[in-house]
Amino acid sequence: MERYSVTCPICGSKAIDEYYTEDGVGIVEEYVNCSCCNYSDEFVYGHYKTSFGRYEFIYDYSLLNDNNAYTLTVKKIHKALFMAHRNWHKGLRERLIRK
Ligand SMILES: [Zn+2]
Repeated sequence: MERYSVTCPICGSKAIDEYYTEDGVGIVEEYVNCSCCNYSDEFVYGHYKTSFGRYEFIYDYSLLNDNNAYTLTVKKIHKALFMAHRNWHKGLRERLIRK
């Protein structure tokens, strides 16, 4: 298992990125977690899950074969991330932190 820190896309704190690799495959599992705002991003054997606040986006690698659906999903996630980032910096943090 490898671990390094990345910048959280919402609050800008240091988030932890942990990943596992397999020979000949590359990264098979990856987890990004921010303890500051509860942002999390997971990749587990072709399954993706991004969650923060009331949002949870789940999709799998088969979506990558459908360009339109994939683009739409990525856009949705980016838009939600953008709003969450803006709300965080406006001080509207209780919307993001799950009780
Ligand atoms: Zn964060």
